[in-house]
Amino acid sequence: MTNPTPERVAVIGAGMVGLATAWFLRQRGVAVTVLDRVGVAAGSSWGNAGWLSPSKVVPLPDPAVLRYGLRAMVSPSSPVYVPPRPDPRLLAFMAGFVRHCTHPAWRRALTALVGLNRRALAGFDALAAAGVGGPGTEADILAAFATTADADHLIAEYDQMRAGGQEVEYEVLTGDAARGREPALSDRVVTGVALRGQRFINPGEYLAALAEAVRGAGGEVRDGVGVTGIRDRGTVVDVQAGAQVETFDAVVIATGAWLGELARPFGVRTTVQAGRGYSFSVPVEKLPSGPLYFPGQRVACTPVGDRLRIAGMMEFRPPNAPLDPRRVHAITEAVRPMLTGADLDAREDEWVGGRPCTPDGLPLIGRTRAARVFVAGGHGMWGITLGPVTGQLLTELITTGYRPAELAPFDPLR
Ligand SMILES: Cc1cc2nc3c(=O)[nH]c(=O)nc-3n(C[C@H](O)[C@H](O)[C@H](O)COP(=O)(O)OP(=O)(O)OC[C@H]3O[C@@H](n4cnc5c(N)ncnc54)[C@H](O)[C@@H]3O)c2cc1C
Repeated sequence: MTNPTPERVAVIGAGMVGLATAWFLRQRGVAVTVLDRVGVAAGSSWGNAGWLSPSKVVPLPDPAVLRYGLRAMVSPSSPVYVPPRPDPRLLAFMAGFVRHCTHPAWRRALTALVGLNRRALAGFDALAAAGVGGPGTEADILAAFATTADADHLIAEYDQMRAGGQEVEYEVLTGDAARGREPALSDRVVTGVALRGQRFINPGEYLAALAEAVRGAGGEVRDGVGVTGIRDRGTVVDVQAGAQVETFDAVVIATGAWLGELARPFGVRTTVQAGRGYSFSVPVEKLPSGPLYFPGQRVACTPVGDRLRIAGMMEFRPPNAPLDPRRVHAITEAVRPMLTGADLDAREDEWVGGRPCTPDGLPLIGRTRAARVFVAGGHGMWGITLGPVTGQLLTELITTGYRPAELAPFDPLR
């Protein structure tokens, strides 16, 4: 379907996905206004692990996750948490998620993601070439294990991903070799697996630079504007924030875990559920040079400034629920035996954010039932890695009317 190129576009949500989309739209000469209820990186784009890791972007619904998840859900200190009395929307999400936890569904979804993953780092390079944010620091992601059986699981997973078309290159290390690379790993580590050729960023810093770049290029980024409704009037769209109504040629809903609130009236039936993750930072005697991953503990670590950010948990609760200190405690105790020289009791920046998760593990990127209303979100665990490529491809659709082939599997009306 074609449409004349819109001159004025509102992007709702100043997270990675919204800001990247705004920036690429601006590059095509579109006047963009980004509106956020709170401000830049107020959702899950701040305290995440900051890995730019296309090799690891796979569908979340996976037969193995299901086996692990069901076992783990009963304990409040486990890395996956579902409330004892889920509301109907969460129940619908869980039912859909479980339906997609089959090998054929996983393989189909992986094939869809591979198309995005191949272009993910080039999206960062395009931004960096224009002086935005830098390309990210190149690094291996070093997974460390207390048992060789856990390492074998990850290796089998990597091999399966590679068989599905994903670019995955890894090296298996002894415990000593892993410690030789990263002395912050404790004696408990018996083996390591280094995933080659990935990158990482400080997401808060990156988002601030991206917002500045949008402003510098003549776009607007407005904080404290909570959009309460969108009205399609055929040739234009009204965006309402309380009593204020402003008219645009098109609108992009990029509201992360809150996506459903504004997108549902436009035919987007896929539930976007907050899969809440927690993080905090600690001082470490020998700060790792790149990301550390503890699959057995479900914990991710990243050097951010002069501290180590430690992130984990998948808590299926509403996106606005308060931070639960028990989860921070659970992550701390899970990772304690695996690190040495880390002062885990000197935590700062304790944070919770909702990963925007969909039941089929695929993002929602494209046009809705209304020709001028688009959505971009639902990237789950990987919205930082996939933000720029999402912005590039969606800009193509919005400005030319033609949908790039890579976007076909992510149709928001599926
Ligand atoms: C612990 C953790 C670790 C993670 N690690 C990684 C990682 O290493 N690599 C990676 O690629 N991804 C990672 N992720 C996932 C990643 O953080 C998310 O996928 C990504 O941030 C989603 O970006 P977004 O722009 O879609 O949403 P968000 O960043 O959540 O932005 C949505 C914005 O919309 C605004 N908003 C909502 N409703 C309204 C409204 N009605 N009006 C106006 N504004 C509104 C919110 O205030 C918010 O700022 C991690 C997530 C967590 C929780």
